[in-house]
Amino acid sequence: MARTMRATAAVVAALILTAFAAGPASADPLPGSGTRTVWVVAADLRLHARPSSDSPVTVRALEGSSAAYAGEARGSWVRVRIGGTDAWTPARFLTTVKPAWQARPVWVMRERVRLRSRPTNTSPVVATTFRAERGRLTGISRGGWAQVKYRGRFAWVRASAISTAPRFPTTSTLVLVNKRNPLDPRDHVPSNLVTVAGSSSLRLRGAAAAAMARMRSAAAADGVSFTVISAYRSYATQRSLYARYVANLGQAAADRVSARAGYSEHQTGLTADLSSGGGCRLGACFGDTAAGRWVRANGHRFGFIVRYPDGYSSITGYSYEPWHVRYVGPDVATAMRDGGHATYEQYLGRPAAPTY
Ligand SMILES: [Zn+2]
Repeated sequence: MARTMRATAAVVAALILTAFAAGPASADPLPGSGTRTVWVVAADLRLHARPSSDSPVTVRALEGSSAAYAGEARGSWVRVRIGGTDAWTPARFLTTVKPAWQARPVWVMRERVRLRSRPTNTSPVVATTFRAERGRLTGISRGGWAQVKYRGRFAWVRASAISTAPRFPTTSTLVLVNKRNPLDPRDHVPSNLVTVAGSSSLRLRGAAAAAMARMRSAAAADGVSFTVISAYRSYATQRSLYARYVANLGQAAADRVSARAGYSEHQTGLTADLSSGGGCRLGACFGDTAAGRWVRANGHRFGFIVRYPDGYSSITGYSYEPWHVRYVGPDVATAMRDGGHATYEQYLGRPAAPTY
């Protein structure tokens, strides 16, 4: 198991390095006809057996991978041959223009930064970013400005507003917490915890609690219901919870399903475990319930991501947990979905954290 996870991590690392070397070109309308080479512009593209997102995922590809257009399109979907397999993807994740420029990922570290058409404060505004928006450096800079590519277009940004190694403090709604990134300090207590609607004792940070209430209302309007069964957990609570897992499962198995104290996303007050009752409480089968499917498809609209998706243990360090949602805000959650970033580690360009 451990060897498989290490091997998977090595392959993922190699693919990520490849992706960093080959930046995306602008996504132009596909197809045309006949077989020709196309390039993947999504960071972690899942290709399907049929032209439907409900069909099984048969191939995964990272940004910069090449594929052959297989000459068949249905609606907005196209069939490609990649890694020897034919599979389907929405055309917007592909480009027919060979990525020509070298670039590195970059993140905007302030909110609502205005990107300019030229490296001056007076040139026209091309776009306004959100915090932690992801783009690419073209490698060209002038004075205190850097040229970047955002949302398919070139623009200039003040170099002081961006970072190639994004890190957010423990108090930020964007903090990354995993086995390599503990809370700081380890016994951190969020300052603005409020009671979750419909619960007498469970608490989340204000923004996450409000978003959770909106999400549950929207789900109810679609005839889907679920409740929060765990939310903020203190350092002390997590310590005793983890100790119980170790006593029952042994340390190696406990580490796949439970965080050590000081390393739990629940301690940020931004994370909740959901249940729709029945036999799938805290079980992988929650992902196949109406609630699990609804949250996976709609959570981003309210700022929530399924933090430990299926098949990414080598990056997140945890088994598939379709019930465990993390609040990162609608901008980042939607950008992750649109860009095909399955994990928060991949979105932030941060190393995998399979172990402590
Ligand atoms: Zn959880």
